Amino acid sequence: MHADLETDAAAAHAAGFECLEIWASKMREYLKSHSVADLKNLLSENNLEPLSINSIEHITFRTTDDYAKIKAECEEFCRIAAEIEAPYVVVVPGKMPASGDNAEIISESVRVLNELADIAEQHGVALAFEFLGQQDCSVQTLELSNEIVGQVNRDSVGMVLDSFHFYAGGSEIETIGKLDPKKLFIFHINDAEDLPKSELTDANRLLPGSGILPLTAIKAQLDNIGYNTVASIELFRPEYWERDPFELAAQANAAAKSVLNLT
Ligand code: ZN
Repeated sequence: MHADLETDAAAAHAAGFECLEIWASKMREYLKSHSVADLKNLLSENNLEPLSINSIEHITFRTTDDYAKIKAECEEFCRIAAEIEAPYVVVVPGKMPASGDNAEIISESVRVLNELADIAEQHGVALAFEFLGQQDCSVQTLELSNEIVGQVNRDSVGMVLDSFHFYAGGSEIETIGKLDPKKLFIFHINDAEDLPKSELTDANRLLPGSGILPLTAIKAQLDNIGYNTVASIELFRPEYWERDPFELAAQANAAAKSVLNLT
């Protein structure tokens, strides 16, 4: 988080990554002094395919004014994604409504994803819906996320499965084995400290293989459904931000490959 987008790209390339998810706030900073064409060049110079723009946060349960801003951001990000040939924009559900009612959460999520997909499809971009395991998020499990994306039923809307959120929110391993792999757009791989699920925050994330997440079981289920596209490392651990990004990227690449049996 302390490195800029140019450093991210150089470190990812040096570490042997093939793709980069572009952190939205870093992209905003970069585009203050560069064009979208510059961004495209930055990625190609580093031999990286842009996987996504990550992310638009809290898309659901917004006020009218805030929702108008979400739609405008979706339009902007999808236009940029199309220009740099990134297939996905990651979108994240909003806070749990007071009712906590599943039917209300599903109908709001389906409505918003359909409206944002109308925008995304005009740019030939797809939306990757990422549930969060934290207890204040309206969509905390793979089961609920899959139900929502199934009801939306559009090629332009699929899911992110993040191993941290999968575990923290109490999703079931067996659910992965029931997924349509075409609906799984991105797999975020990371590990976590051994804490009660309710206490886990993003700051407790660890490099793959360094914690207690059931990554081997998750990988086995992904293999079962034939998911074989992308694993993307996502670490939000402040301790790591103090480290040299090139060294950390190299270690992250090796750690993920080891856990996924790719070496
Ligand atoms: Zn994630």
